[in-house]
Amino acid sequence: MFPQIRWRIAISYLILVTVVMAGLASYLSRPGCLGDAGCVRQGVSVTAVILLIMAAAIAFPVAARTTRPVRHLTSVIRRITEGEWEARVLPQTRDEMGELILAFNDMIDALRQQHLALLEENGQFDTVLNYMADGVLITDTAGRVRLINPAASKLFSLSEKSALQRTFAEAVRHHQLIDLWQACQQSGEEVTAAVEMGRVFLQVIITPFKEGWAEGYLVILQDLTTMRHLQTVRRDFISNVSHELRTPLASLRVIIETLQENAYDDPETAVHFLDRAAGEIDVLTQMVQELLELSRIESGQVPLRLKATAVADLLLVPMDRLKHQAERANLHLILDLPAALPLVLADPTRIHQVVSNLLHNAIKFTPDGGKITLKANVETEKNEVVVTIQDSGIGIAKEELERIFERFYKSDRARTRSLGGTGLGLAISRHVVQAHNGRIWVKSKEHKGSSFYFTLPISS
Ligand code: ADP
Repeated sequence: MFPQIRWRIAISYLILVTVVMAGLASYLSRPGCLGDAGCVRQGVSVTAVILLIMAAAIAFPVAARTTRPVRHLTSVIRRITEGEWEARVLPQTRDEMGELILAFNDMIDALRQQHLALLEENGQFDTVLNYMADGVLITDTAGRVRLINPAASKLFSLSEKSALQRTFAEAVRHHQLIDLWQACQQSGEEVTAAVEMGRVFLQVIITPFKEGWAEGYLVILQDLTTMRHLQTVRRDFISNVSHELRTPLASLRVIIETLQENAYDDPETAVHFLDRAAGEIDVLTQMVQELLELSRIESGQVPLRLKATAVADLLLVPMDRLKHQAERANLHLILDLPAALPLVLADPTRIHQVVSNLLHNAIKFTPDGGKITLKANVETEKNEVVVTIQDSGIGIAKEELERIFERFYKSDRARTRSLGGTGLGLAISRHVVQAHNGRIWVKSKEHKGSSFYFTLPISS
């Protein structure tokens, strides 16, 4: 009838007082009692005792009823604190305690939603940090590392845990980076700079921040090594093309000027100069053709006609083509194939071109009396055949090995100039092999010889 505790207690006590007072009144109204001080004292004393006992009798169950849900609520709060977000108290009454429990449940629901939203946001933040290619590092104002992502950890060869126990200077161990951080700290403004760390080329941005209670410096490290390498390759490519074109063009100009200065009066000299002019034009034509070929292969305009082919067929045709050249250079040409080789999936014309390029180089770069061996072996695990073209020639310097597959790259310009060649052969070969889903690489020791390898998938 009275759902609220305060009303229940008040009404109970009102009834109690009324009943006891009525009892006292009827006791005192007995004849002769009011005039007798002893009777009045006794009546009041008994009434007080009854009031006390009845009050206690009412108070205990009320207190018990009120504290039971409080105890339950306390235990549920503990469970929630330990992460058991589903724990709830079910309201048993519709009084203030029931309302408190309902409000508590609503509050936990709201908190849980916020908690989940925060978790999701944190998860997204972690994913971005973990997978981003740029290194991210946050320090506090004193320079202690507060956050480091895997890319930055990798850059400084440092685990996240040990980075978090260090200062920025201890973590990065690079004077330029430390100077930048200090410059940012002193100026309070964003600092950007390009920094070289060994073979890695970094763009570094350090920004001071103040977000609520958090204050510090955000360090972003962008690895621009590949981009810089591409820029170098492009710059080299342009200068190489210009250089390669300028040389035959300058030769042609000299030849024409000589002819103009009456050399054509002497037919023998004129024929000689015209032959040289034709030679230079051949060089130019070959270069333009190879450049066109390369750009067509690179843009995927050369469709491969793949078919199951015997490895011997891929090697014998170029060997046959170049055997006279090898004989003239007094070189020993050897084909060393295992008895049973599986068929490979290849476009024979294209692979003939690759083998010809590699063989032609081996002949060019191997001095008289040297040896060139063509081999093949199966890599069963990788389901491929590895073709090797090995020479006992002049070899390639270690620092140049990485670059020889670039367009126009020649390891020694003066030396290769006299041997001819455009510097495009290996670039074309690499593209052709990659179009076959294969790999091409080289191992070489100066003055000992070189081995070029490429793989082709086994035809299933
Ligand atoms: P090129 O037309 O000049 O031969 P390539 O792209 O085929 O161009 O080769 C690039 C450079 O790699 C060559 O100029 C040479 O310096 C080096 N090279 C290639 N093959 C060999 C080899 N077998 N031995 C030594 N150097 C080689």
